[in-house]
Amino acid sequence: MDRIEMNPSRYPKHKGDKGQRFGGECNRTRCTHPHAVMFNIGTFGYYCIPCGRDLNRANSDLGPPLCTEVDHQLTLAEQKVMHDEDLKARWAKSNP
Ligand SMILES: [Zn+2]
Repeated sequence: MDRIEMNPSRYPKHKGDKGQRFGGECNRTRCTHPHAVMFNIGTFGYYCIPCGRDLNRANSDLGPPLCTEVDHQLTLAEQKVMHDEDLKARWAKSNP
């Protein structure tokens, strides 16, 4: 397997690359689905589509969706850009 960049702020810190590999195993502790393609800007992990949609539904009052479907393994720099944009959007939503 290729080496991947693990986000030091990821949550939780699973053993191996669970939740850190685009297309790999879902980051949700109780989920073992493969094909994790939704990136969560709160946990810096990849989720399968059902879990990603679940999380977005559960947090829909809090601002922009936590999980976004992506099409490749994100670099840490790309994750930072997404995180900064997310913070801006959340700030704008709470300061209309
Ligand atoms: Zn899942």
